[in-house]
Amino acid sequence: MDIYPNPDCRRIRGSHLLEVSCAHCQCFIATYQKLGESPLVKLYHERIVEGSIDLSQPRGALFCPGCGERIATRYLTKMDHKEAYRLVPSAFHRRRVRG
Ligand SMILES: [Zn+2]
Repeated sequence: MDIYPNPDCRRIRGSHLLEVSCAHCQCFIATYQKLGESPLVKLYHERIVEGSIDLSQPRGALFCPGCGERIATRYLTKMDHKEAYRLVPSAFHRRRVRG
């Protein structure tokens, strides 16, 4: 499996790293900089460090490269108008990694 660094990634101070994987086939999806302990409902584009999906290309949705399930759909956040991916609640697992 190829891992693509996100060219738009910004370092988020005070964040910890989460590994997001597919709930259906356990395939690695992305490493994400999460702020706070709230449930993970979206991935801000600029906080994604790297992923198994090439984010240098515009994506309307994120599909698991392993099984093709839809993991998330792209949208603009209302509050701060940032590019983000809204996660499908049953489609992913999260695991905290060092950081
Ligand atoms: Zn999958």
